[in-house]
Amino acid sequence: MQKFIRFFLAILIVILTGTVIWMIAAIKNNNAVGGGAYRLQFYMPEYTPAKKMAGDIARMGRPHESEKIMRLILEGKIWIAPNLKDRQGVYVATLGLVQRIYLDKEALESPAAFLDRLRFLDMPVEYKNAFGYITLAGTLFHEFMHYSGHLDEAYAYDQEIRFYENMQKSTFYIELSNREKKYYDWALESALKSVQKAREMEVGK
Ligand SMILES: [Zn+2]
Repeated sequence: MQKFIRFFLAILIVILTGTVIWMIAAIKNNNAVGGGAYRLQFYMPEYTPAKKMAGDIARMGRPHESEKIMRLILEGKIWIAPNLKDRQGVYVATLGLVQRIYLDKEALESPAAFLDRLRFLDMPVEYKNAFGYITLAGTLFHEFMHYSGHLDEAYAYDQEIRFYENMQKSTFYIELSNREKKYYDWALESALKSVQKAREMEVGK
């Protein structure tokens, strides 16, 4: 009996230690994104735009990744960060235990408002919406690369660049009206320039 109790206590200690370490990792993750982050759940207002974005990634030519991102949403691995500041999204992993993709609340709900917050573009709202939407899709795609184990920045940036480069061949683009195509052509060209610049700054040429 005593042997059994000792065994039970040992198991309990292992579980408790594991839980505490996991909690520390979760807190570290939350701090890394400016705090206040929460799991995206189906009843939240951010859920609809997040699902639409994940679905659009398939229409943008990446059905395989879209399906996996959709699964991450259902599994609660996509979180909303209200304090990401100048980033639309980021992948954070602590101690290999807590792995999450965080999306900026405003970037998701209102791409133009997010850009206004950064005072990034002085353009008509249609251009800002197109640029904000495309780059959020690109960011989610990039962070998903990290989530899937590609931690190398050069690789993730190259994938993101290819994502933009091929978009004009996709259903998403083809089904846009001529007027919308004008906004998206400009947005894609600008997204490519800005991701190439970011790649250069982070990993060199
Ligand atoms: Zn990255």
